[in-house]
Amino acid sequence: MIPMNAFTREPDPLVQAQLRAVERVIRSGQWILGKEVRDFEAEWSAWSGLGHTVGVANGTDALEIGMRALGICSGDEVITTPMTAFATALAILRTGATPVFADIDRDTAILDVASVRRCLSPRTKAVMMVHLYGQAGPVDPFLELCAERGVFFIEDCAQAHGARWRGKPVGSFGAFAGWSFYPTKNLGTPGDAGAVSTRCRHISEKARILRNYGQDMPCRHPVEGLNSRLDELHAAILRERLSFLPDWTNRRRRVARAYARGIRNAYVRVLPLPADPENHVHHLFVVTADRREALMDHLESRGIETLPHYPVPVHFQEPCRQLPRDPQGLPAAEKHAAECLSLPCHPFLTEDEVAAVIAAVNRFRG
Ligand SMILES: *Cc1c(COP(=O)(O)O)cnc(C)c1O
Repeated sequence: MIPMNAFTREPDPLVQAQLRAVERVIRSGQWILGKEVRDFEAEWSAWSGLGHTVGVANGTDALEIGMRALGICSGDEVITTPMTAFATALAILRTGATPVFADIDRDTAILDVASVRRCLSPRTKAVMMVHLYGQAGPVDPFLELCAERGVFFIEDCAQAHGARWRGKPVGSFGAFAGWSFYPTKNLGTPGDAGAVSTRCRHISEKARILRNYGQDMPCRHPVEGLNSRLDELHAAILRERLSFLPDWTNRRRRVARAYARGIRNAYVRVLPLPADPENHVHHLFVVTADRREALMDHLESRGIETLPHYPVPVHFQEPCRQLPRDPQGLPAAEKHAAECLSLPCHPFLTEDEVAAVIAAVNRFRG
């Protein structure tokens, strides 16, 4: 089987470094909010080009905590895309605010600014862009719109570690960025972890309080927070894994280039690669096909694992069916959900496997 992910193929030096990191933490006796978390936060701030990082338990919490640090709450609306992980909308719901769904651009499957405009209301507090599949979204028109309307621009960076837009890292444009380090993400950990990063010290301090029961000093709780701390074990492991991220990103780019060059099939469309390779870190490599299920079956019978991201747009999920959306509907998101399919794209694919995927896709006959 050619797998969507292959954690067991990670290099032995990394496995050894992680085991040493785990031993270091266990022997330190400092297991919560210690040196490893502080060091990872500083290293992630430097790596991602953002001033302040607050480590949290997962990416969903990162988005919730960031929004709560901005004061987003019940009665507010946050405009976002229905073509994303459910977690994006869930984080908005958990703040008490209402997600409002705007449609996507057909080429990139990223939030469409014209549709976002149609979703604005006096209650709009923020627009949340998802840098989907590892592509840096076109932030400029969104920044313009948000400045014009006095609302926050927020970035869900869970899929886009290291992607750049006009030379600047994703996550550095909005009021804050939410990161996930779930195992399958470009930077992942064997477990759950996440982070909020921001240029603004004030927001980072609020996030720091919120992640730790809303406590600002021992035994003082000025706000109702969460328990959502990044723990020392995952921080220590993430520090080891971070040094591999540039190499992994380069490997993902090579796989994506090979697919984009090699896939030639009238029944399968490849999402266009950006002109600037820095824009994309290829968390997922996505194609579309009218007969997506047939393509999946065809590839599975040839030993290739695939997965649609995402087969059900978020506004079709039970908790979101009644939520507001673009008055013109969400046709592009619904069409993409019916046609999209992710091919294996990770740093541990061999050249033979990449060639086998290309050959199998090219043999598909509608
Ligand atoms: C993975 C993901 C999340 C949630 O991250 P968790 O760490 O699983 O909570 C949020 N948004 C997007 C776009 C994701 O891909």
